Amino acid sequence: MVLVACPACDHRISEKAVACPSCGHPGGREDRHGLVPALGRVAGTYISANALAGIILGSVMFVSAAAVLITLILSQH
Ligand SMILES: [Zn+2]
Repeated sequence: MVLVACPACDHRISEKAVACPSCGHPGGREDRHGLVPALGRVAGTYISANALAGIILGSVMFVSAAAVLITLILSQH
């Protein structure tokens, strides 16, 4: 049996424990700083940053295109 520190109270609990017997923190094995949650956060941040960049880029492109069009239309008079 491997003992790990509870992430909430540092009580030594079995790594197979479903919850910490001392404080009831769920998932003794679940490490908030584990690889999967970290990857999830990184992926989420990357995707939202990408989406945000796309939205900003799209807006800039749209405004630029509109400005060029307006300039072309106005310069034809
Ligand atoms: Zn605990």
